[in-house]
Amino acid sequence: MKAIVVREFGGPEVLNLAEIPTPSPAAGQVLVRIHAAGVNPYDTYMRNGTYAIKPALPYTPGSDGAGVVAAVGDGVKTVKPGDRVYLAKTLTGAYAEYALTLESQVHPLPEKVSYAQGAGVWVPYGTAYHALSHCTRARAGEKVLIHGASGGVGIAAVQIARANGMVVFGTAGTEKGLELVKRQGADHVFNHTEPDYLEKIMQASGGQGVDLILEMLANVNLGNDLKLLAFGGRVVVIGSRGEVTIAPRELMMRRAAILAFVLWSATEAEENEIHAAIHAGLTNGTLRPIVGQEMPLAEAARAHQEIMQAGAFGKIVLVP
Ligand code: NAP
Repeated sequence: MKAIVVREFGGPEVLNLAEIPTPSPAAGQVLVRIHAAGVNPYDTYMRNGTYAIKPALPYTPGSDGAGVVAAVGDGVKTVKPGDRVYLAKTLTGAYAEYALTLESQVHPLPEKVSYAQGAGVWVPYGTAYHALSHCTRARAGEKVLIHGASGGVGIAAVQIARANGMVVFGTAGTEKGLELVKRQGADHVFNHTEPDYLEKIMQASGGQGVDLILEMLANVNLGNDLKLLAFGGRVVVIGSRGEVTIAPRELMMRRAAILAFVLWSATEAEENEIHAAIHAGLTNGTLRPIVGQEMPLAEAARAHQEIMQAGAFGKIVLVP
């Protein structure tokens, strides 16, 4: 099969298309023919060798994908060859024509959801759900600022927050991104490249501040986020690419909290809940993954460059 193989850590140029043996499923494993693989920012940190999880070399990247079950190992009961599935983690990597998974890592993909959309499910929707539900226990009626709403996690969070009755404030850095965020259900949108956008957020909150902030770039925004919080507010750090200075008194005055997580630390019970919520949302249409760009698998290096650039528009997906 064709697969992207990383033989040394480094820049996007270490992502090379190679011919490698197609794996076969052992007991409890599933082989999936991949129709689309999702590209996430962490794939780039891992490729650089700077991420908390450092895979053994050589490796094939990708935890997110969608396709059709090609074969199952002994004892697999929940899926059969021919089933449409999305992947949430794999054993061999999703940037490939086939991926081997555990039975627990494949989940049904409803007919009306395309494979490209299915490739944008696990990390984006899992993260958004984990942030809103497990981490911050967001409630209907709360004002939620999604700071970085135009990308994979942001769009997922807008849709989930809106479907659950929250008042959604979303930011993006381009007009196209702002329109997308608005179309997905945000009540208020703001351009995070404008110098006065923080004042505009405060005004739109009626001067009270927001109850919750989902922060995609904490190293840039965390200090200012604290000043935007209402009394009892919470910020959850989802993304950060460096260090930041904060004034703890901003928290004390508001009895506010900074929370943070990585999706990898979700428990099995939390993961089960996430997949149940995703299944319901994909089926009833409240969750609609947005695919901004599909690229051939061979262009994985370009995908890694583009995901790190400004101007996000939903997901970038690789097609083997
Ligand atoms: P993405 O699709 O590349 O989107 C990045 C988002 O950040 C876009 O909405 C982008 O907006 C926005 N952004 C850029 N500059 C910003 C600024 N100054 N202030 C606020 N937002 C800004 O990435 P993603 O998949 O949504 O992931 C977002 C972040 O969360 C990444 O850092 C990722 O590594 C992290 N993450 C963490 C977890 C976890 O488990 N904790 C899970 C998934 C993702 P424009 O491009 O429109 O400017």
